[in-house]
Amino acid sequence: MSQRQHPQTKPPTQRVTVLGSTGSIGTSTLDVIGRHPDRYSVHALTAHTSKESLLAQCLTHRPAVAVLDDDVDAAWLRQELKLAGLPTEVNAGREALCEVARDASVDCVMAAIVGAAGLLPALAAAEAGKRVLLANKEALVMSGALFMDAVLRSGATLLPIDSEHNAIYQCLPAEHRGGLARHGISQLLLTASGGPFRTWSQADINNVTPEQACAHPNWSMGRKISVDSATLMNKGLELIEACWLFDATPEQIQVVVHPQSVIHSMAAYHDGSVIAQLGNPDMRTPIAYGLAWPERIDAGVETLDLFQVARLDFEAPDEFRFPCLGLAREAMQQGGMAPVVLNAANEIAVDAFLQRKLSFTAIGQLVAEVLSRPYEGRVDSLESVLATDQWARQQALELVTRWSA
Ligand code: NAD
Ligand code: MG
Repeated sequence: MSQRQHPQTKPPTQRVTVLGSTGSIGTSTLDVIGRHPDRYSVHALTAHTSKESLLAQCLTHRPAVAVLDDDVDAAWLRQELKLAGLPTEVNAGREALCEVARDASVDCVMAAIVGAAGLLPALAAAEAGKRVLLANKEALVMSGALFMDAVLRSGATLLPIDSEHNAIYQCLPAEHRGGLARHGISQLLLTASGGPFRTWSQADINNVTPEQACAHPNWSMGRKISVDSATLMNKGLELIEACWLFDATPEQIQVVVHPQSVIHSMAAYHDGSVIAQLGNPDMRTPIAYGLAWPERIDAGVETLDLFQVARLDFEAPDEFRFPCLGLAREAMQQGGMAPVVLNAANEIAVDAFLQRKLSFTAIGQLVAEVLSRPYEGRVDSLESVLATDQWARQQALELVTRWSA
């Protein structure tokens, strides 16, 4: 019997830019990419100031381009890479970040810069029609309308990397544009670990230190998102993120505290079905999902051992001890620039807390105070978003100076 030879159908290699490659999400992304050298090659790696880490990553992953924030750091890296015999081009500054996000040779962009700084390059990737793996939730919180519009116009593929949104994405029908009701979905259930102070009294929460706030029980993350998880602002930002990603209203999203962080979120359907996505709390799972979608690849994550998990608990969030969640929901309900103001004030407040200038509870108080001040503007251009962002930062900085005096 003659055997017919089938040509091997190997998928073409995807060229990936990792924005924020030295961070928690960035290093996990490179871990997954490193497991599949036949599928992925790295176009660019970027960092803010961690030039040594970026050098080490360049030596391993050999990108065409590396980007740092300032010229002096970039000159140092250029020299080191030259000495190592690598032809990597090294650039500096915000425009250089946008360039590696929109470069014609790039297929896929991981947007993993933390905070508002990640907005412009993430938007550049969306406008250029890339496969955008969005970890930087602040981009959607600040400019959800502009961002989603850019995705629609360019035909970009937007895949959420935030574990909850990635879970919901997996629980929805493949084509889910146009509102939840159209697809028979009644509610999205956004799970939250509750953070390290879930069971603490109000009095104890008042004296929390940055070290305690950054020691998350289930997830290992950057410092800003760790503090956001402890105040529940992270869940508030995620609620806003989910509204934009899934065309939902804040009322259609229920936050469920689930301390084991095994169910990463759920979708409830009108027929009574609730579909959940489960897995070990390891960001490499949603990252691998985003990289390979619609296929599945090895992420280096062990299969969930349900006997070891043993039980799954659920409770309602306490918005009295954790007022940031309510502030975020109200900001989304109010719409317009309110989420921009919320996000900017929160970034300043978290930074001040990490520098021991503000107490943990003052984070929510400061955000509430800035939100209560009069501001205007419509989210119709990037310039107006950035102007309001700057205004809110200024207000927040003045409050930090006054309150820490
Ligand atoms: P991180 O602080 O560990 O890393 C941030 C990265 O961005 C670093 O590479 C840093 O060099 C770079 N960066 C910081 N400021 C910058 C600036 N001004 N300009 C250019 N680059 C800058 O943060 P992370 O925990 O990896 O989080 C990244 C993003 O992903 C955040 O938006 C976060 O909310 C989101 N996210 C993180 C996790 C997680 O598990 N870590 C989960 C879900 C979503
Ligand atoms: Mg999350």
